[in-house]
Amino acid sequence: MIVAMQDNATDEQIQHVIERMVELGFNVHRTTGETQTILAGVGTPAHFEVTEFQVLGGVAQAYRISSPYKLAGRGFRPEGTRVTFPNGLVVGGEEVVVMAGPCSVESREQIRLSAQQVAAAGGQFLRGGAFKPRSSPYSFQGMGLEGLKLLREAADETGLLVITEVMEISQIELMLPYIDCFQVGARNMQNFNLLRELGHVRKPVLLKRGIAATIEEVLLSAEYILSGGNYDLMLCERGIRTFETYTRNTMDISAIPVLKKLTHLPVLGDPSHGVGKRDLVPPMALASVAAGADGLLMEMHPNPDKALSDGAQSLFPEQLTKLVERLRRLAPVVDRVIAPAVSKIHA
Ligand code: PEP
Ligand code: MN
Repeated sequence: MIVAMQDNATDEQIQHVIERMVELGFNVHRTTGETQTILAGVGTPAHFEVTEFQVLGGVAQAYRISSPYKLAGRGFRPEGTRVTFPNGLVVGGEEVVVMAGPCSVESREQIRLSAQQVAAAGGQFLRGGAFKPRSSPYSFQGMGLEGLKLLREAADETGLLVITEVMEISQIELMLPYIDCFQVGARNMQNFNLLRELGHVRKPVLLKRGIAATIEEVLLSAEYILSGGNYDLMLCERGIRTFETYTRNTMDISAIPVLKKLTHLPVLGDPSHGVGKRDLVPPMALASVAAGADGLLMEMHPNPDKALSDGAQSLFPEQLTKLVERLRRLAPVVDRVIAPAVSKIHA
């Protein structure tokens, strides 16, 4: 931490700041210039609030220079985290993965057909919500346990992995036998009790950025999961709320390279929730991979016009197929490859 004192700060005020810094565990280095005193606090006390110093008498500015997250920081694992799934697929390596499927599981026929279409397009994961966080209590809330069973069945028929959203602690045990990856949705990014509990499971987690969360807040939420001992964690940019109304959210592509710099965790992009309109999904998917994403999470529905949720942003199956082909051509430009289709993983 750096504390810059005001030009007219008194010796008592400077001493008081130094004492408080020492009390917290900082090693204080004092530089006294012609008019101003600068205090550099070296060390990383477990708990301190930079705002406490900003309001102390005689202080002009106080800045935190160490990051508030330790386990999520790139320095903790400079080589990067690789999350390995039961079929050998690795996220966070050279390969870029494709997770696709409907917003919600709606029926056996719908999820089966979706799985076949995702596998045929070249995806590796089947997505689909069984527990749905809906803005309105009157909207479709998901099929629950029955939806989990249908997801597993459809994924097993095609060799896909299953990713689906967990909304509360009580669902974790119930979900474990049916899924390969927990998805924490934007609305639950700061459900700290849920995050803490997911730190204790031994199954990968995809943590989505909250609708109004800063990058630092995303990393602090990741820290909750990591500090419980679960390192199989991936992050996902899915758009944030801004003053723009043309798109559902503003897909913050820049968050992808920023996160890749700040953390060792794999970073995915969800262009579907990022823009909310299907014709804008392919360009944002390509942009995400160009920006360094380790994977994509996208909505695709066999019949989007009849979807029970998020139909407008769900790709038609043939759009997904074309998009994956284009992604395959783009990836080498950024020294990546799109992961092989599931039939090839099993071969
Ligand atoms: C979803 O993936 O369907 C979803 C609800 O996403 P988000 O949490 O990003 O809104
Ligand atoms: Mn959705």
